[in-house]
Amino acid sequence: MSSHGTHDSKLRVLDAVLRPRSIALIGASNTPGKLGFKLLKNMLADGYTGKIYPINPNDAEIQGLKVYKSVLDVPDEIDAAVIVVPAKLCTQVAEECGKKGVKGLIVITSGFSEIGRKDLEDELVRVARRYGTRVLGPNIVGIMSNSDKLNASFAPFLPYPGKPSLVSQSGALIVAMDAATYLRRVGFDKMISIGNMADLDIADCIEWLDADPNTTCISLYIEGLRNGRRFVDAARRARTPIVAIKAGVSAHGAAAAASHTGSLAGAAKVYEAAFNQAGIVQATDLNGLFDRSLALSLQPPMRGDNLFILTNGGGVGVLATDAAERLGLPLHFAPADLQAELRKHMPEYGSAKNPADLTGMAGKDWYYDCVKAILTHDWVDGLVILYCETSLTVPMDIAQALHKAIQDSGATDKPVAIAFVGGEQSSEALHWLMEKGIPAYEVPDKAVDALAALREHARIRSLVTEILPFPGGRSSDLARETIAAARAGGRGALTEIEAKEVFAAYGLPVARTVLAKSEEAAVRAAGEIGFPVVMKIVSPDILHKSDAGGVKVGIKDAEAAQEAFRTILSNAKAYKADAAIHGVAVQEMAPFGTEVIIGSVDDPSFGPTVMFGLGGIFVEVLKDVTFRVAPVSSTQAERMLTEIQAAPILAGARGEAPRDKDALVQLIMNYSRMILDLESEVAESDANPVFVYEKGKGLKVVDARIILKKT
Ligand code: ADP
Ligand code: MG
Repeated sequence: MSSHGTHDSKLRVLDAVLRPRSIALIGASNTPGKLGFKLLKNMLADGYTGKIYPINPNDAEIQGLKVYKSVLDVPDEIDAAVIVVPAKLCTQVAEECGKKGVKGLIVITSGFSEIGRKDLEDELVRVARRYGTRVLGPNIVGIMSNSDKLNASFAPFLPYPGKPSLVSQSGALIVAMDAATYLRRVGFDKMISIGNMADLDIADCIEWLDADPNTTCISLYIEGLRNGRRFVDAARRARTPIVAIKAGVSAHGAAAAASHTGSLAGAAKVYEAAFNQAGIVQATDLNGLFDRSLALSLQPPMRGDNLFILTNGGGVGVLATDAAERLGLPLHFAPADLQAELRKHMPEYGSAKNPADLTGMAGKDWYYDCVKAILTHDWVDGLVILYCETSLTVPMDIAQALHKAIQDSGATDKPVAIAFVGGEQSSEALHWLMEKGIPAYEVPDKAVDALAALREHARIRSLVTEILPFPGGRSSDLARETIAAARAGGRGALTEIEAKEVFAAYGLPVARTVLAKSEEAAVRAAGEIGFPVVMKIVSPDILHKSDAGGVKVGIKDAEAAQEAFRTILSNAKAYKADAAIHGVAVQEMAPFGTEVIIGSVDDPSFGPTVMFGLGGIFVEVLKDVTFRVAPVSSTQAERMLTEIQAAPILAGARGEAPRDKDALVQLIMNYSRMILDLESEVAESDANPVFVYEKGKGLKVVDARIILKKT
């Protein structure tokens, strides 16, 4: 209850910033060409019903409005201050706004952290926080809202009206997309420029837009997130569909990576994982962001996999079929009764299977009857309607018939997307359809992609609502003691033995291992564990033990153990003369199994992140791995197992028995809990390899590595 209250009051504060009833424009100007002139002009242009107070010490009147010397002179409450004065004056302005009780600052001014002046930015936020004022920006274009008739930005006009709202870290992109909305007639209700995100960030915008009745899809342009976990959390809780594009997936993770996992964890994979866990549909390019926003803002989610395609042309039908398969929605033949019904509305040589091809003879009546029959059939989960312009038909007639059929079918819970391939008349018909709330595109692939997005939305939403079995924060004293001891010895990495202790403390099944400091001790340990054993060098200076001749497997008796002890030590000395040697690890020789790798990195945006893949060439050469931000739920862990290219091997390829999937799911979950719990300590880690056995026979971690964070 109380947390709900906090949520509400937070949204009220955001209301003041993003839907202000009164605005002070600080730095308003009478000089055309100046930002303060343009801003005021824009704010007055669209019929905003709130109050606007221009602030400028040197003018009495600007664009017909009375000007105040300071915000403190305004005889009224002010929700938000739009600030365009130079960066060096912003702190003082924030101070005055704080005193005045202004609730939010929309700081358009640039010249802060984006040019290395983080100090100015921090100062601004510090002052604002002192008064409880929230800050949007700095370095932004501003905010635009069709439903509030407010353009508080320097973009020249409000976007073409629509139902999605856009939040963008790039200001230039907002201005450009704003213009593009008219060309495409794909509109937005709001465009929020978020700039440097010194205070309010994307997570705040998600929460606020989720509660906005005029926003039916949240569209995000993301360059980089600081608090990725909060972002995932906000997105998970949102009920409004979210589509995001992440720019800059190549440069990230360039920082020196000490482990295998580190070198594999590029931004593309980690963001993809985070979007997945957050229930966010991804767009891979700007066109995709427009197209998917349109679909998600207008249509219900697609609740099953049965996509139906209706066409009047074989060619576009085939293209759509290909696209469906590529996008994870392969077509299936329609049930016999539906086929029989459709056959009544097409010539002899048409096809009713799926795609249903009405042929070029199709007029509006056939389309009408078929659309109605398809949408009212239980088997169908979503419909793509294709139309190629013909000399026998008028595109607008077809569009109207389609719209009427969709309405008359009463199937409001099934998504529909349309593509008309043709010229100007088709284009007009598409725009008309969009006005009627039906996503309509100029090529078949896009219509299929629209449904793929709606299907993906339904799929990932069903996953994010599940409760995680462990909320985190369960600590293991044993693990912490082991880490503290290594740190006390001045080390930045754990030995395999220590890493296994930590792993074991979190329930990971590790091969039993004993440290031996002498030949006799090694023989004793081997006897206790039981031959055959494996022996390995234990040295904080040798991370890749095999490279140093530091691993001997299949040691059968006491004599062999003595010899292995000597060889391993001499190999290690030859490899690295000054290596500190703790001794030799004697361990249970695990039966050979399918080799997998599990590991972790501390992602700069999302924190502890788990990686999973098959071992050997799959990870070394093919980089066939998948990621999830910790903690990982059982369903997400299961999905990881199916996401890698080598998934069929786990499922039991070529007559082999399937591997123990349950044990792997448990491994991933426990591993994610471990790295989350040890977030402050562990920089990177891996278990490479883990041997996985047949279903029911579990798995064994035979090698372990933990690299500590620098203190
Ligand atoms: P490193 O990766 O540092 O070279 P590992 O501990 O991974 O050393 O050992 C190298 C290889 O030896 C492993 O990939 C595995 O095939 C095998 N191996 C290591 N430990 C065991 C064990 N306890 N049981 C069976 N095989 C093992
Ligand atoms: Mg290894």
